[in-house]
Amino acid sequence: MAGIYIHIPYCRQKCNYCNFFSVVSTKSVPGMINAICNEINIRSRGNSQTIETIYLGGGTPSLIDHDLLNDLLKKVFESYNVSNDAEITLEANPDDITPESLLFWRKLGINRLSIGIQSFRQDDLNYLNRIHSAQTAFNCVKTARQYGFPDLTIDLIYGIPTLNDNHWVENLKTFTSLEIPHFSAYALTVEPKTPLHQLIEKGKLKPVDEYQSSAQFEILMDFMKKAGYLHYEISNFCLPGHFARHNLSYWKGIPYAGFGPSAHSFDGSTRSWNVSSVNDYLKSITENQLPQESEVLSTNDKYNEYVMTGLRTMWGCKLTEIELKFGKSFADYFISRTEQWISAKLMSTSDFQFTLTDKGKLQADGIAADLFMVDQDVKSL
Ligand code: SF4
Repeated sequence: MAGIYIHIPYCRQKCNYCNFFSVVSTKSVPGMINAICNEINIRSRGNSQTIETIYLGGGTPSLIDHDLLNDLLKKVFESYNVSNDAEITLEANPDDITPESLLFWRKLGINRLSIGIQSFRQDDLNYLNRIHSAQTAFNCVKTARQYGFPDLTIDLIYGIPTLNDNHWVENLKTFTSLEIPHFSAYALTVEPKTPLHQLIEKGKLKPVDEYQSSAQFEILMDFMKKAGYLHYEISNFCLPGHFARHNLSYWKGIPYAGFGPSAHSFDGSTRSWNVSSVNDYLKSITENQLPQESEVLSTNDKYNEYVMTGLRTMWGCKLTEIELKFGKSFADYFISRTEQWISAKLMSTSDFQFTLTDKGKLQADGIAADLFMVDQDVKSL
């Protein structure tokens, strides 16, 4: 097992576009940390694999009280064999980044911060109902570096109706001026049942324009290439040598264990997920039961996941790997489906390695879906 993910399901305020599992009432935080420690106790028994990455995500793990965070990480270190050079990432909200917190997180062994900036412009932050200000977004990066976190990543969102193309370029310029080695950029998507969806339906917020989003994705790719960043995954860019090791393991199909409500795990053949409810999670752990459901992936499922995640990365999909992992019939099927995308210049190939072109990246999900193996394809092989 390469990585551990811990989901801290609390936020001070809900951003209107968010569909991650989190709650705003923090009453249950101490009980939750205790329960996650118990889940680690139950699941770590007999596990001797070395842990290369730990990721504290959420939610907002940076709002957790220092003593509780200390208890949590201590439990992970006691229960697993954590590599000396493990990447340990904490997701942080700009408002929580203070000199005192930074020094404490460093002392705990956290060596990478992922900061949810989303935009350096107040209009966009207001549109998204983010809790922090544009000024805090800018200042927190400088403070983080000053207090020992050179290994930083930030998230930015494009396609926000208040963000025109010039604003987007300004955001990207601000990002490069801060000399941050890693960066994730996401298109704003309006998920069903989110407050953003309802506000747009009621005409209280401007709708998202798909064309604007696509145009801003093209601006992004061009800008980051010129700035010397590797576009190594559809939504991720880094300076050479600064890949997000934890996320790479997801994209490369390496097993990981997720703890806390709604956290997912993968052991190489089975995917499991914890219940998305604070009360149900706490009750289940108190009763010494794992609050999990799981599914065993078929060869078909694993091939589809390989194609979906592989195509999103700069390493693409390798024919030899497909044949080795899934068999010759899958490799033949893959190659037969890729011809049309190569002729349309949306995909390119070299040494039987298939990657998306920049134009292809705009249609990544559709192209991946076309290469998927559905049950009737298997029957006809
Ligand atoms: S801080 Fe993150 S997890 Fe919390 S509501 Fe906002 S986007 Fe969702």
